[in-house]
Amino acid sequence: MKHTMPELPYAPEALAPKMSRETLDYHYGKHLQTYVDNLNRLIPGTPYEEMPLDEIVRRTDGAIFNNAAQTWNHTFFFRMLTPSQCAMPEKLAEKLSAAFGSVEAFKDQFTKAAVGLFGSGWVWLAADREGKLSIVAKTNAGNPMTDGLRPLLTVDVWEHAYYIDYRNRRADFVAAWWNLVDWQKVADRAIPRRYKCTACDYVYDPAKGDPETGIAPGTPFEEIPDDWTCPICGLYKEAFRRVEE
Ligand code: MN
Repeated sequence: MKHTMPELPYAPEALAPKMSRETLDYHYGKHLQTYVDNLNRLIPGTPYEEMPLDEIVRRTDGAIFNNAAQTWNHTFFFRMLTPSQCAMPEKLAEKLSAAFGSVEAFKDQFTKAAVGLFGSGWVWLAADREGKLSIVAKTNAGNPMTDGLRPLLTVDVWEHAYYIDYRNRRADFVAAWWNLVDWQKVADRAIPRRYKCTACDYVYDPAKGDPETGIAPGTPFEEIPDDWTCPICGLYKEAFRRVEE
């Protein structure tokens, strides 16, 4: 399987001045492109050639892990940014407050972890199978999926993420990055939604999963494999619609 560059949900100049066009040109256009190219060069002829990217991240180490995880991490990072930030959805604010005391306390702890991480790496908000939230700091290409956790949000604290715009001032970069986070996307991942089959009215509840078809409790609908079909009528995932609550 050939891995490809993710499309950005904004124009490359849209995040300026918090994140400049030049940073996007280098960080997305050159650094991420190199990880994608390296991964595509490394996997032919290995057991990972046809494996989905997240499986490669969970199963490998060494050069394949480094390039696969950097591809996954950057794709996730860039797609969680927005030039038009909305207010944090109420349910997400409640969940963060329950876990960390308040939204401000969450942001303080996350910022401390991001500014304090020694060397290159990533800081994550992640959830376990029961939905319990934690802040996880990982060096180099680290990703909490290797600990069985589900990523909800990340910031890249490699120098290449901020040196063009902020030179050595990582704290200034992290402070600006908070204003680019797409809270709706974080909420969509943090609060898994129910989905209904439009043909037979079967409702997929992420809390229950669907163990009979191999989907573990706690699996968000978005993360069910694309070849999964409705356990009642056999229609594909595209036939499902989100249940509005
Ligand atoms: Mn990076």
